[in-house]
Amino acid sequence: MAFYDESPHRRSVIRALSLFTAWGGVIFTVVNSIRGLYLIAGIELVAAMAAGFTYYQLAHTKKLKAWCVGFILCFYSIMMFILFMPNTSPTVFVWIFLLPLISYLTLGSYLGLRFTAAYVACTIVVFLLRFELEMVVLTLSSTLNVVLCCALIWVFSHIYEVNRERSQAQLMKMAAEDSLTSLYNRLRLAEIFEREVRVAQRNEIALSLLLIDVDHFKQVNDRYGHDVGDRILIAVADLIREHSRQTDYGFRVGGEEFCLILSGAGLSAASGVAESLREAIENTEFTEGEEHLSVTVSIGVAEFLLDANDLDGLYRCADQRLYQAKTEGRNRVVGSFPEAELSCRSA
Ligand code: GH3
Ligand code: MG
Ligand code: MG
Repeated sequence: MAFYDESPHRRSVIRALSLFTAWGGVIFTVVNSIRGLYLIAGIELVAAMAAGFTYYQLAHTKKLKAWCVGFILCFYSIMMFILFMPNTSPTVFVWIFLLPLISYLTLGSYLGLRFTAAYVACTIVVFLLRFELEMVVLTLSSTLNVVLCCALIWVFSHIYEVNRERSQAQLMKMAAEDSLTSLYNRLRLAEIFEREVRVAQRNEIALSLLLIDVDHFKQVNDRYGHDVGDRILIAVADLIREHSRQTDYGFRVGGEEFCLILSGAGLSAASGVAESLREAIENTEFTEGEEHLSVTVSIGVAEFLLDANDLDGLYRCADQRLYQAKTEGRNRVVGSFPEAELSCRSA
């Protein structure tokens, strides 16, 4: 499952619309049958039944966007046809107020803008075909009311949806990212790991996980203060990024703990990356007033399938090796055999 799925929001809107269409279709079928407009009544009955069917399909479909586009196309086409029918009341044109609202709520700002523009243009053509230009001039104030009102609803819908999408993107970024280091946070680990497992299996490549913990970080905080500690964490994260390729993913999984998923690297290649990262961190000097300080890290490495078949097992294995690196004196990498005392599988 994606980290954030927009479909529940869109699904509820389009389901509400299809249910409304189904009941609206039934009511209009009855009204137009009484009025003797049997063709329209028949179309409305078919539309009501199709909308009812759509309502049930929309509850579970994985192809929500396709269903939305399909439903909206049918809904608007029927609307245009009804607007075009000579027997219908001119007040049916108030339905065009719904065009921007429905388009933006169900399709988002990109498609919503295009659908609204296309069908507003259709409505203008239908209106001019149905009522001669003279009639338009005669009823100019009514026509202007409808046009201005529709334009306002369109503008408001556009502003609302664009801002909603923007703030949602911002929220998603905040929820997915660690605010201090801008690495991914722990919440995304499982989702990204699963995705990378699929990529690795499809391409038959290895996948490894590094757990990186800053050594004696509490002492750094105690001696230099939390702000300096924070700056060091940011620098460590930058070094993790520098040592990652585009296909790797870096996470801050705890206070001074980081994780790196390496795609296409087995235990020994990943241990090589870990070793050069460890060296780079050790050799980076931070200046604090007169003092120069540096930190070291301990790293545990584990390979997917070789050490474990799932994220929990792999994480546990890397954690055991990290613990081993700590007990052996810190500032070291434990990963490739024979450094690791035991294979995680036989542990
Ligand atoms: P070890 O080598 O065994 O890992 O020792 P350690 O001191 O690094 O480990 P310990 O778990 O005892 O302490 C971790 C410290 O990390 C404690 C906490 O003050 C610090 N820390 C956690 N989150 C943050 C943070 O966001 N900013 C700063 N500056 N420090 C943090
Ligand atoms: Mg530590
Ligand atoms: Mg720790």
